Amino acid sequence: MTEQLYRDDAYLREAAATVLAINERGGIVLDKTNFYASAGGQPGDRGMVRFAGGACPILTTVYDTDKVTIVHVPAEGATPPAVGDAVTAVLDWEQRHKYMRMHTALHLLCSLVKFPVTGGQIGADEGRLDFDIEDASAVDKDKLSADLNALVAADHPVGERWITDADLEANPGLVRTMSVKPPMGSGRVRLVMIGENGCVDLQPCGGTHVKRTSEIGPLAVSKIEKKGKINRRIRVVFA
Ligand SMILES: [Zn+2]
Repeated sequence: MTEQLYRDDAYLREAAATVLAINERGGIVLDKTNFYASAGGQPGDRGMVRFAGGACPILTTVYDTDKVTIVHVPAEGATPPAVGDAVTAVLDWEQRHKYMRMHTALHLLCSLVKFPVTGGQIGADEGRLDFDIEDASAVDKDKLSADLNALVAADHPVGERWITDADLEANPGLVRTMSVKPPMGSGRVRLVMIGENGCVDLQPCGGTHVKRTSEIGPLAVSKIEKKGKINRRIRVVFA
């Protein structure tokens, strides 16, 4: 299991690590990493792995089939470090910070649209969530944009709290997203709280977030699309 440094510090741009393995597809496995592996609608990080003999560009980061080992996927033809090498994992921070801002923005959207979430995707420029909305008149593009920007401007703190798997099972109401199972199995689950004690949003999440909502910057709901009889896709962009 790769130690996930981004869980404790999402702002860690560089991290020292040791190469544990190069897998059969050429992926680089480190003992610990600041690179987020693609999961829950948030893309895997890109950047590079620096070592004494050079630097290997990383195109994306994924989980191995065991779902606990993180694999840094090198650019084709790039020379990877060797097993046992001391390396520095360097994030493409500009892109990751956009993911952090958009990811946190989608928590705010989730807090405003009180309907079940059926899917979602985070991008560097746009994010979206799908909801089953019984009454389509309950969501309005301009009102949502204004409400999102009010939450951003309110500069709410973004924090976390850890609970046990059993606590989560006893409180199924905490899980808003039906399509993405909370990261359970390790015995404990991280709850992400926006606002004092999670008054704005409180839900299990394994992604990376900014520290305060003001860091997200201005937002706009660009589109509300009809995806099914009651399913609506709400797209959010940086304004
Ligand atoms: Zn999250």
